[in-house]
Amino acid sequence: MSIYDQDLDKNPANYVALSPVSFVERSAEVFGDLPAVVHGRRRYSWRDTRERAARLAAALRALGVARGATVSAMLSNTPEMIEAHYAVPALNAVLHPLNTRLDAPLLAWQMQHCEAAVLITDREFAPVIGTALRILRDEHGRAPIVIDVCDSEYTGGGEPLGACEYEALLARHEPLPRLEGPRDEWDAIAVSYTSGTTGNPKGVVTHHRGAYLNAVCNAATWSMPQFPRYLWTLPMFHCNGWCFPWTVAMLAGTQVCLRKVETRAIFEAMRAHGVDHYCGAPIVHNLLINAESELRDGLTQRVRGMVAGAAPPAAMIEGMARIGFELTHAYGLTETYGPAAVAAKREQWAAANLSEQTRLNGRQGVRYVLQEGMTVLEPQTMAEVPPDAQTLGEIMFRGNIVMKGYLKNPAATAEAFAGGWFHTGDLAVLEPDRYLKIRDRSKDVIISGGENISSLEVEDALYRHPAVMACAVVARPDPKWGETPLAYVELKSGVTVSAAELIGHCRTLLAAYKVPREVRFEEIPKTSTGKIQKFVLRERARSASAIE
Ligand code: ADP
Repeated sequence: MSIYDQDLDKNPANYVALSPVSFVERSAEVFGDLPAVVHGRRRYSWRDTRERAARLAAALRALGVARGATVSAMLSNTPEMIEAHYAVPALNAVLHPLNTRLDAPLLAWQMQHCEAAVLITDREFAPVIGTALRILRDEHGRAPIVIDVCDSEYTGGGEPLGACEYEALLARHEPLPRLEGPRDEWDAIAVSYTSGTTGNPKGVVTHHRGAYLNAVCNAATWSMPQFPRYLWTLPMFHCNGWCFPWTVAMLAGTQVCLRKVETRAIFEAMRAHGVDHYCGAPIVHNLLINAESELRDGLTQRVRGMVAGAAPPAAMIEGMARIGFELTHAYGLTETYGPAAVAAKREQWAAANLSEQTRLNGRQGVRYVLQEGMTVLEPQTMAEVPPDAQTLGEIMFRGNIVMKGYLKNPAATAEAFAGGWFHTGDLAVLEPDRYLKIRDRSKDVIISGGENISSLEVEDALYRHPAVMACAVVARPDPKWGETPLAYVELKSGVTVSAAELIGHCRTLLAAYKVPREVRFEEIPKTSTGKIQKFVLRERARSASAIE
């Protein structure tokens, strides 16, 4: 035992478990008068938000919620969703944000799987939640206690489903004196089911320590100032809004709520509240880029967007520059608390021309500052690939911002952590400057005549055509080549283009074997976060070619 191990123990004065809950207390204490949440005509200061969260915590506790209990939330980006992010962890309970676009059987399946004790649900979702609750009662003989949210900013229908209404419940309970994190920072904070782009929902369990660290990382990575004005264009149910409910709490910023992602509403909110930060999948940024330019009139502040969730096409990165929005490109997964890597910009990039800047910024980049490791490994040998921009391997993470594991799924957990690294399933190369570049998800690669084709590269070429609004390239079974690329395309409104023209356009940019053999103009299925469901398209391509 060294001298430093003697009489120098942890005690409450020198050791407190890390939890993002502590950010809320500090902002209420120091900046209590500043605006915390704006939602239509509703306004809450940091003092109000803390008090509302502390009342919610007291109410949940009275309903029996304690350490390890699950509280599900079926909410849009409203003040209640923010409050749930502060109240539930303060009880050492686990927040289970439900994807508001899921169907009733899946919602019921998730609530059954994570044994939800309480469900906080917005009136808008009453029909689908009503069915999910019936399934739970009929098939499993139990359903969570329901708290209905009747948001005054929501004017549509929807019957209350439970015994208590949110505001009435808050009014009935005195706020907890303090919002505090758990004794053990390894305790679960949230369970989020993967959105299903790969078709297999797994309950990703995260912990207080990781949520705290990634909340700090977001601010550091994005050089966010104190008091940012953050617009909720990213669903908070997706990886806890990439930890931003906690990041903005840390910086005592303002969160501007938004029930729906609509171009006009986004620009209006940006103007009205001086918004300077927002996040989203590429599709969100694409909406803004393609909006009529008048909608941007009067925006005088610098607006910074963070893109992650899917590879941003080069045309999108350039489009952001064109409308004068600053773009940060991040990469991550639900298993890494959302963004976990960033195309960190270097001073010398500014001297490069736009297309080179776009290439550099289009890379998935380097690990977040508080993440211990991220690299590209050959998954069998676990050897790092050389930084030659060519050798393909799998992206792996290691460190304190990686999930605890998958709920009730030890086999999937063990597989994901094999060899002491978290396996992402994303295929990438390491470039000489050690920035990594995703080539594709392993499931999305098209193998044609023995050659690998990155679906992302083909999509990038398609996006360079001015008529293309959205596209997805998948493998189509082919008797001769094994697979060939098939493109699904959605066009911008009011324009037409033929399949032959798009194929010709790709020919000018790609090697012949990568050019889509066929283009179909169809609506592309997307998840609620705007990510394209390639597995649905692959099925479609497969069944279509089976019929032919
Ligand atoms: P799901 O697997 O249900 O889509 P996630 O939301 O966790 O769940 O998605 C993570 C995946 O999204 C990553 O594994 C990767 O394939 C993709 N992704 C996220 N960010 C980027 C990015 N910047 N570039 C390319 N792909 C990305």
